[in-house]
Amino acid sequence: MIFKSTRSKSEQVKSREAIINGIARDGGLYVPEFIPKINLNLRDLISMSYKDLAAFIMGKYFTDFEESELLECTSRAYDSKFDNPHIVPLVEKAGIHFLELYHGPTLAFKDMALTLLPHLMKASAGKTNLDKEIVILTATSGDTGKAALEGFRDVDGTKIIVFFPQNGVSEIQKRQMVTQEGNNTYVIGINGNFDDAQRGVKEIFNDREFNVFLEKNKCMLSSANSINIGRLIPQIVYYFHGYLRLLEKGKIIDGEAINIAVPTGNFGNILAAYYAREMGLPINKLICASNENNVLYDFLVTGVYDKRRELKLTSSPSMDILVSSNLERLLYEISGRDEALINSLMERLNTKGVYEVTPDMKRKLDVFYGGYALEAETMNSIRRLYEIAGYIVDTHTAVAYSVYEKYKRETRDNSVTIIASTASPYKFGRSVLGAIGAAAEDIDDFEIIHLLSKFSGSAIPEAIGSLENKRVIHSRVYERNQLKDAVKKILMAGDEYDRG
Ligand SMILES: *Cc1c(COP(=O)(O)O)cnc(C)c1O
Repeated sequence: MIFKSTRSKSEQVKSREAIINGIARDGGLYVPEFIPKINLNLRDLISMSYKDLAAFIMGKYFTDFEESELLECTSRAYDSKFDNPHIVPLVEKAGIHFLELYHGPTLAFKDMALTLLPHLMKASAGKTNLDKEIVILTATSGDTGKAALEGFRDVDGTKIIVFFPQNGVSEIQKRQMVTQEGNNTYVIGINGNFDDAQRGVKEIFNDREFNVFLEKNKCMLSSANSINIGRLIPQIVYYFHGYLRLLEKGKIIDGEAINIAVPTGNFGNILAAYYAREMGLPINKLICASNENNVLYDFLVTGVYDKRRELKLTSSPSMDILVSSNLERLLYEISGRDEALINSLMERLNTKGVYEVTPDMKRKLDVFYGGYALEAETMNSIRRLYEIAGYIVDTHTAVAYSVYEKYKRETRDNSVTIIASTASPYKFGRSVLGAIGAAAEDIDDFEIIHLLSKFSGSAIPEAIGSLENKRVIHSRVYERNQLKDAVKKILMAGDEYDRG
């Protein structure tokens, strides 16, 4: 399998290079030259463990790896770091099937890919005889940074440096990061907001002089963000896994089409479901759920993508996004793989802030149903589900539940449906407790967690419970224009670097 860019035919690389490079040289995203078919009776896959299934599905794309190499990667990723033996449990509540993607080390679905990516990168570096250390630079608004830190922690041949806005993340998120263990992890607070952090990281990537300095020190920069194909492909796996669990439990018959609802931000998670469908997984509708930042809803209804609007801050912050980067890969597929067209659409988005797809492309968007939930609807959904089923979901999952209910009212489609549950309610305890009418304004984040445990009757996840007593390891803070200095200091000091 060859990987190429969405924007030109200039580059053709193996998966190992696509994974290390992250983004194509022309600024496009790497895509497989075709979407492979499963060509199998799905029932034959039922007995596979999660890590075996993951190696099998990924093997259809990453054909320059031996199956045993992929299995080694998935075995290292999907182990006891997950607090559930099935890795991804499928839970039936109120007649809906919730695919709980949040049992990993940081309690959000990003763990599904970020526990694996470091191992894929390391194996890719070995295969390309890369003699440099891979330095991952990440700017985070909270969740991605922690998931990347956990994933890359103590992985040979890599270092990870995370920048976060010193006063722009929640108390829990900050604590999760500054207590991070691992010999190759570096967490830096910056005096600035998330955009400052993001801009600083981009500048480092584009700084020629600095990259020469890195080269001399046998380092190269890479990124763990969600456009890396090494994050997308592993996300296909859990949709197969979910379908197989439905088959196993006799909830559906062989070949029966199901719906999948996904709370969507950067369009990575739902794109993986689209790939699964193209591979042959029987999927009827892909329900794309947005919060009040409903750019994708408008796009799916009108065919016009228009980012010219104010970003709203909601209780589902991981979906507060105006430009969904991974949508580019869908546009590529539904345009009949027309690089020139994608190039011009992305150019228009950059310069004008808006583009419109062709009528033919618009028609092909039909497999998606777009919807959005207002803040009040999201909160109502959390409360309703708690009342009906005693089940507590986080704010992101609640957006998907709310949109799914609208879909069902509108279409009367009774197909079996899976909702992707993207975060543990413990990560967004204050909003969740507020929704079920149990939060007080004046209690701190740790008290919230204890209260949530009481209401849900579930044990506090170890990843959060242990935070209260963890030692702060990283306390360096830099000005927003000094990110490069921070990276330099870390790389020059080596093991002597003082994190405190
Ligand atoms: C990242 C994230 C999302 C959005 O996923 P995309 O792949 O960016 O669409 C939804 N929910 C949670 C909890 C997330 O962390």
